[in-house]
Amino acid sequence: MDWKDKYKKDEPKSEESTFLVDDIFESIQFEGSRCGTYSLFIRFFGCNLKCPFCDTPQDSQSPVLPLSELVKVIEGRKQKNIILTGGEPTLQPIDELILAAPEFNYAIETNGTQTEKIFYLKEEIKNVWVTFSPKQINDWQKRYLDIWNLVDEIKIIYGSVSNELLKIAMSASETYETPIYIQPMYTEQGAQWEEVYKFVAANPSCKFSYQTQKVLGIK
Ligand code: SF4
Repeated sequence: MDWKDKYKKDEPKSEESTFLVDDIFESIQFEGSRCGTYSLFIRFFGCNLKCPFCDTPQDSQSPVLPLSELVKVIEGRKQKNIILTGGEPTLQPIDELILAAPEFNYAIETNGTQTEKIFYLKEEIKNVWVTFSPKQINDWQKRYLDIWNLVDEIKIIYGSVSNELLKIAMSASETYETPIYIQPMYTEQGAQWEEVYKFVAANPSCKFSYQTQKVLGIK
């Protein structure tokens, strides 16, 4: 039985921390520094932003999994590399998940708005690789100020942020020796990669990232 068949929206009621889980699947990570790594993806539902190019579901019938059940699902897959994505994974109690099943290698992709959670993950829990994909929010200068040096890599969706934010991200990458990836925005017309190609050619400290999974037609 697939994991999703066992859990329905709003069930079960539980004293434990719970997670809104949109999908669980195994696939290859094609984006960023871990490109090529076979991984277990846990895609959570829900985000505090509404980016127009977002490719994650906005209207969920996502099952609600209590912590112990999600741990069982992870342990049942026997896949060491776990990617917590979304939606925005820091809105879920992922710190509890990582502490409950510490034998796995965790990676998250975050929009960086939940700065306290990111501090806690990096400073206290430690066993988590953080991909920071900044978004053009109103208070980004203040909100993002202290996390540039905490994260493991930066990913910019090309054309989605201002030149100022892009420059700050590139400067932080240089200062903290954090790899920075520039990724084409994927739309219904496909990925507009040519401009990103030119940008990376002109800015070789940046690396090109591509959602190869969409070209291959896999998750
Ligand atoms: S931050 Fe990411 S998950 Fe949230 S709306 Fe934007 S693209 Fe979607």
